Amino acid sequence: MPQFPNDPQRDSYDVVIVGGAMMGSALAWNLAVAPDFDGSVLVVERDPGFASCSTAHTNSCIRQQFANALNIRLSQHTAEVLRDFPAYMGGDARVPHQQIHAFGYLYLAGDQSGATRLRRAHAAQRDCGVPARLMTPDEIAAAYPFYALDDIVLGSHNTRDEGYWDGGGVFEWFRRKAREQGVEYVAGEVTGLEVSRAGTAVEAVRLAGGGRIACGTVVNAAGPRAARVAAMAGRAIPVEPRKRFSWVFKAERTLPATLPLTVDPSGVHVRQDGPDTYLAGGHTAEDLPADPDDFAMDSDVWMDVVWPALAARIPAFEAIRVINEWAGHYAFNAFDHNAILGPDPEVGNFFYMNGFSGHGLQQAPGMGRGLAELIAFGGYRTLDLRPFHIDRILRGERFDESVVI
Ligand SMILES: Cc1cc2nc3c(=O)[nH]c(=O)nc-3n(C[C@H](O)[C@H](O)[C@H](O)COP(=O)(O)OP(=O)(O)OC[C@H]3O[C@@H](n4cnc5c(N)ncnc54)[C@H](O)[C@@H]3O)c2cc1C
Repeated sequence: MPQFPNDPQRDSYDVVIVGGAMMGSALAWNLAVAPDFDGSVLVVERDPGFASCSTAHTNSCIRQQFANALNIRLSQHTAEVLRDFPAYMGGDARVPHQQIHAFGYLYLAGDQSGATRLRRAHAAQRDCGVPARLMTPDEIAAAYPFYALDDIVLGSHNTRDEGYWDGGGVFEWFRRKAREQGVEYVAGEVTGLEVSRAGTAVEAVRLAGGGRIACGTVVNAAGPRAARVAAMAGRAIPVEPRKRFSWVFKAERTLPATLPLTVDPSGVHVRQDGPDTYLAGGHTAEDLPADPDDFAMDSDVWMDVVWPALAARIPAFEAIRVINEWAGHYAFNAFDHNAILGPDPEVGNFFYMNGFSGHGLQQAPGMGRGLAELIAFGGYRTLDLRPFHIDRILRGERFDESVVI
């Protein structure tokens, strides 16, 4: 794990990024390589071992099966990045090749409204060139004979650019290369933001221990703690830490085919992990905001919710043994489950990079690129990411994405 100094070298930076995990580092690297941008960039990270962040607890999967074209385009960008990661990283010979373990995703609909959602999403995916396929229960049974499908009316399946990837490895290279290219990282906690008398700009960042750093732009990349950092600027955002549990298990009977990441109508999801291990995820029925330092497991969720749902969908999973488990936190956007990106309309130099819920890892390359464009050049040059701006929430308009996990 990296060692960061405690003290910044200067007392003023063009850009200060609060939080140096996947999002903060994706932005830092994109700023470092942005042509014609020579501003100074500081990343402040309260947990330099990165033990408690969402990035450390992710399931690290990528999918193309979103319903909104912008979310699809972001995942397509990440798939492109992974096709030749060393070239993306500037042709650096040290950078390893990446790949997607494309076991695919299979969404299952248990009623007509679920099927309608899948059909609508499928139309958007087709328009973006995603080769997803709608499947009847008979077609699913022919391809994957281990499912119980009596209650299923439709499935949506795709294996191209969908599956597991090494998000942790990509994060490491974003961070390492950003530092090599001049971005400064310090270990420290941002405890306050000094807002101008007019309330229109953050003038300085306060650190635990008393340090003060003047700033041109501040980016909130604080993951599940994003609302706390926004509150320091006097702003409220609907981002809550929500606990998500993961279990890795072995089954007495290994399945005869690779298990796609199966999204059950119950909300439980399960996928192939290793050659003879599987990974399932779920949460409590109430799904309330949690303490971001609370990593306790809840065995009732496994016993009462997840295992019964798994055994009902895949009878071979009636006899299974958990071999690893952990809890992590989504930075859950309670308004519409989607990202909040870009400037605050009132505190104009305060930028959001928050609320990625369960799909932030795969969106980091595109979000980092987009936000770097906005900061360095004042506008988006590749994907127009304005639909993610907080203005939609202030207007009460949801970012329409029906396929969330
Ligand atoms: C169980 C689980 C499974 C997931 N599965 C997937 C998946 O399969 N695919 C996918 O794409 N996404 C997935 N996600 C989501 C993904 O992991 C996150 O969206 C992504 O990692 C978010 O990165 P981040 O940098 O925004 O937040 P984080 O990784 O949480 O990083 C925020 C950082 O900010 C720092 N920080 C906070 N406050 C301060 C402060 N005041 N001062 C200084 N530093 C501060 C923290 O220490 C932390 O390091 C999953 C998440 C979980 C929890």
